[in-house]
Order: sequence, then C-alpha cells, then structure tokens
Amino acid sequence: MNEPARILIVEDEERLAHLVGDYLAAAGFSHHWLAEGSGVADWVRDNRPDLVLLDLMLPGRDGLDVCRDIRSFSQVPIIMVTARVEEIDRLLGLELGADDYVCKPFSPRELVARVKAVLRRLQPTATASDTLELEPHSHRVRHGERTMELTTVEYRIFETLYQAPNRIFSRDQLMDRAYEDGRIVSDRTIDSHIKKLRRKLAELMPGAELIHSVYGAGYRYEPAAVSND
Ligand code: CA
Repeated sequence: MNEPARILIVEDEERLAHLVGDYLAAAGFSHHWLAEGSGVADWVRDNRPDLVLLDLMLPGRDGLDVCRDIRSFSQVPIIMVTARVEEIDRLLGLELGADDYVCKPFSPRELVARVKAVLRRLQPTATASDTLELEPHSHRVRHGERTMELTTVEYRIFETLYQAPNRIFSRDQLMDRAYEDGRIVSDRTIDSHIKKLRRKLAELMPGAELIHSVYGAGYRYEPAAVSND
C-alpha cells in the first residue's frame, strides 16, 4: 500500500528543479516538475500530488496566486520557496494557507527534511481513527486532522451513502438527493461524480475502499474497518 509520496516541484530555474528532484528521488519520493505558474492548479486538480513545493516568483502566474488557487479546492500540503524573506508572514498566514516555507538559497538536504516533516505532520498515521466525519456547512469530509472539500453534488451523494452504511442506492435515488431542483442527469454523470468522490476519499484515507459499485444496482458505502493496533 505504501506508494512513494508524489511531490510536485513548481520552479522556473531548471537547474534547481533538477537538483531538488534528484534529492527527492534519493529520499524515495516520486516527483513531477512544472516550470511556470499557469496550469499548476489544473495539474494539482487532475493529479492530486501529496505535497507541492511552490516557488514564489514564477512566470505565468505568481506563486501567491497559485497557492490561493490550490487552496480553493484542495488541502494538499504546500511548502512555499522564496527568496523574499519579508513575505514569510503573509505566506504562512491563514489567508494563503501554505503549510511551511523554505528560504532561498537552501540546501536540498534541508528541503527534503522539511518535506518529510510536513508530510509527517499532516498525514494520518496508520493507527489514527478510521472514522470519517461530515461537515455539512462547509461540505467537507474530515479524517483526523485532514479535511477534503467536496462540491455540493459530491457532498450530497456522499452524505446519502454515508448515512445508510451498506445500503444500496440506485443512480436515480442518488440523482434525486444530489440535485434539489429535480434535474435529470444521465447515469454517466452520477458515475463521474462517484469517480471524483472516490479519488478524493482515497486521498483522505489512502488504501481504504469506501464506495462500492453493485453491478446492475448502484452504489453502497462500507465504512473502513477499524484497525485494532
Ligand atoms: Ca523563481
């Protein structure tokens, strides 16, 4: 189950990006490199990395804006990389929601140590409670210290399944619950919401299969087995 954590490096200095990538690889992480700010949020949305190393001064879109973009839909850990020491207070402020920062110039070794520390701090441990909690007002799902933001439709679908564990819901039933306006959508639309929901839940509880397909019938929610250690 322990796949290497995937780190996204956003850095316009190619030499530095490669150096950091080499150190991350040596430490057992997989990584992906993007050289400019535009497109970062979309990449994060599509690929759901475990952590983002985000340079502040970037072509395309500024690191501050990229951080804000990412935080509008994801709680992925973000470490800001900056040469502008005077920005640090703002970077760590609630407004932006970065988890840590590293000042340039930095030693790659120190950066890797920081990555490990942030992942340790923010990832649930194997002995953490396996219970998910719903936060209706924010449409979030919580697992331990981590939360995942769902869209309104995803939240309503998940809430329906979650409140009746192991009960099978047809796509029509889920559709009725998900769209207050009585809108009719195709089965494929429901399937695609389920797919996104599964991806988000997998990020929250890696390795747990919570939403099961029931062939010819629909979907059901099965709570994760609680580990006894
Ligand atoms: Ca830069």
